Amino acid sequence: MNTKYIFITGGVVSSLGKGILAASLAKLLKARGLRVTIQKFDPYINVDPGTLNPYEHGECYVTNDGAETDLDLGHYERFLNVATSQANNVTTGRIYKTVIDNERAGVYLGKTVQIIPHITDEIKRRMTLLGKSGNYDIVLTEIGGTVGDMESTPFIEAVRQLQWEMPDGDCLLLHLTLVPFLNAAQELKTKPTQHSVRMLQQEGLNPDIIICRTEVSLPESMKRKIALFCNVKQDSVFESRDAKSIYEVPMMLHEQGLDAIVLKKLKIKGMQEPQLDDWKEFLKNLFNPKTECDIALVGKYVELQDAYKSILESFVHAGAANHCKVRVHSIHSEHLTKDNIKEMLKGMNGILVAPGFGGRGIEGKILAVQYARENKIPFFGICLGMQIAVIEYARNVLKLEDANSTEIRPQTTNPVIDLMEEQKSLTIKGGTMRLGAYDCKIKEGTLAYKIYGSKLISERHRHRYEFNEKYAAAMEKGGLVLSGRNPDTGLVEIIELPVKQHPFFIGVQFHPELKSTVLSPQPIFVSFVKAAMKAK
Ligand code: GLN
Repeated sequence: MNTKYIFITGGVVSSLGKGILAASLAKLLKARGLRVTIQKFDPYINVDPGTLNPYEHGECYVTNDGAETDLDLGHYERFLNVATSQANNVTTGRIYKTVIDNERAGVYLGKTVQIIPHITDEIKRRMTLLGKSGNYDIVLTEIGGTVGDMESTPFIEAVRQLQWEMPDGDCLLLHLTLVPFLNAAQELKTKPTQHSVRMLQQEGLNPDIIICRTEVSLPESMKRKIALFCNVKQDSVFESRDAKSIYEVPMMLHEQGLDAIVLKKLKIKGMQEPQLDDWKEFLKNLFNPKTECDIALVGKYVELQDAYKSILESFVHAGAANHCKVRVHSIHSEHLTKDNIKEMLKGMNGILVAPGFGGRGIEGKILAVQYARENKIPFFGICLGMQIAVIEYARNVLKLEDANSTEIRPQTTNPVIDLMEEQKSLTIKGGTMRLGAYDCKIKEGTLAYKIYGSKLISERHRHRYEFNEKYAAAMEKGGLVLSGRNPDTGLVEIIELPVKQHPFFIGVQFHPELKSTVLSPQPIFVSFVKAAMKAK
């Protein structure tokens, strides 16, 4: 079988959930026994989202091979339980960079370099790269942005050309649109959908399948109207209703027969019904919790849910694994003071201090760690959160009063967190952090060892600063346990307090949230939720 390509575009407005739709369809196709991957093409000029502030596009998701990517790749991994890579996320910036580098290298032999064919050829090359690896039966490609945006035009043109070049049945176009319900008229409206499909048609593309985001169920007559006016078959209009959980979406689409139609249109025969037993088991646990707990997420990007997307999803997975409803309370670290900390963290069964960059909100985070440590509330620090735990311990237990990270206060006399050696000579910001998966060796008999049940683990990283080795002996003497280190460089990756002293206190330099999936919840999150339930 040739590799088949499914393209997903979005119309009318952004934030309709193209990423969730792509992940859900991919999940269904994988559950039918196909080898599936998903990639995202983003129209912005940044070479990757690594240099974007979390307020712009939410969290930056990091792959095993160290690519800084769009957060939708997190959804792909959480749904598919398969790792993605650099090739799965491409931006306009990356396309242009390649083409301009080629031009400087003389690759185009004196030709005038243009959007068509040079940019579109490079887009097409990247769109078919994973498909050509021979590892996949189906490659789903999500096109970022909304149809009609000036900046997504070259992507749409590339899809048009690919569709023209490929044999019938090898390429499918899904269009996700909005069918709003107007309260005053008490009516669903199809006009925005018609307009967005027309926009696609103007660019030479006709969708094969239309998926309508809607708050209420679409009557058959309305689906027929959309089919007729938008030039798709009557069985090819689907609805995507607001769901209680994103993880319900695959089931909702399967019940309407989306995966069956997709297979039919791609001329793939003889596939089994999707095997979704473990997925259904997860949903059952998610919707029928036996207990609940409250976790404080202390960070500085709390105004935007997407900034901590993977952490929030990890709690969903870990909650279901524990039959527990985890209520995550976002707490702005800038609002925490000595006087209000007790009030602000009242009733919390666990405290997580989030990753982050720069000095804003640091003192509040330090107070949160101190509060968790002294009151024996389960504590989990991630990346900056781990670094903060080290600073707090140095200041309040070792009495190194000005202990700090040189990221926050370069002139501190006690730099317990300092810039990594290889970072010191770097001046370029993009793609230069310590990125991607690294091994970590865990000391036996520690909390980390109990959690992972293994001496060697691998987790993903994204940071420039590290635990300063010069303070290792003093910290250990002072009672802090350095329970995980990189086997090659010796960098400290995990710190904790002895279990005799504190029921659950752990900080990790890596980002465990990036590896949590529905079917493989991340072990630290699972244990942290368990500890929070016990604390309750
Ligand atoms: N700012 C810190 C560093 O660069 C932590 C990064 C993070 O939390 N991802 O080391």
